[in-house]
Amino acid sequence: MDQPNSGPARKAPKSLASVATWRVDPGKAAELTKIDAGSTPEAPGDRATTEKASAELMIRLAALQNRLRAEEQRSVLLVLQAMDAGGKDGTVKSVFNGVNPMGMQVSSFNVPNDDELAHDFLWRIHQRTPARGFIGIFNRSHYEDVLAVRVRKLASEKVWRPRYGLINHFERSLSEAGTSVVKVMLHISADEQAQRLQERIDDPTKRWKFRLGDLEDRKLWPDYQRAYEDALTETSTEHAPWFVVPANRKWYRNWAVLTILVDTLERIDPKFPERPDLAGVRV
Ligand code: AMP
Ligand code: MG
Repeated sequence: MDQPNSGPARKAPKSLASVATWRVDPGKAAELTKIDAGSTPEAPGDRATTEKASAELMIRLAALQNRLRAEEQRSVLLVLQAMDAGGKDGTVKSVFNGVNPMGMQVSSFNVPNDDELAHDFLWRIHQRTPARGFIGIFNRSHYEDVLAVRVRKLASEKVWRPRYGLINHFERSLSEAGTSVVKVMLHISADEQAQRLQERIDDPTKRWKFRLGDLEDRKLWPDYQRAYEDALTETSTEHAPWFVVPANRKWYRNWAVLTILVDTLERIDPKFPERPDLAGVRV
């Protein structure tokens, strides 16, 4: 019989690109201006070659997720942050295309409602962290509470500054409970955002994604970049690292996020449960 957790049935996986390419090293200052949003570091080749590599990674991701779900001991939380039109929705759609939806939970965080505002900022977040066996995806997250809140001056520095420490504690407790926290910032350029926002206005099938408030946020671009740099610097930790992915090119972005996810799951190495209780059982 096949050995599901070892042996010849599990082929040796192809080597992965190093996630160090995108990782914000804990304790080091993140500098977004030094990362070219249009670059494609470590890409396996041109667009076609990279898309082929992504297709293979998607199969690998699906198999890993299946084992994660079967094992039901650990979980993965992917936090996605980006400026408007940075490609968060597109990333979720493309990267998880081959993954069984039964093992996934996607949460989008919008402007907090009254009930959410009546609680601490992590209250609504904690309710959506992935249960054992699941991959949770945060489309925006608790990081809005040190990004949008700071830049739009929705709270004073006395309120948002201590949140870095609170976030680190929170993510540490998730990690201690078996959740691998992986945080990805999709890094686009201001020019790329202008193009994408204009397309949202011009294309009737994309208008639903556009809010006039996006233009207000765009005016605050430098403030957002600074707030992102501080958040990345303050909260990239060994147990919950940040990765900055150049995201002007969608095919590259998808491949990079897939690489980071497959790397995370292969480190977890979830196993199909042994079932000694089934020894000799016949139907
Ligand atoms: P979108 O993700 O484009 O649909 O938009 C969601 C909006 O909600 C963005 O403008 C976010 O900045 C905003 N948002 C999300 N979380 C918060 C928060 N905690 N405080 C303020 N604004 C937030
Ligand atoms: Mg939006």
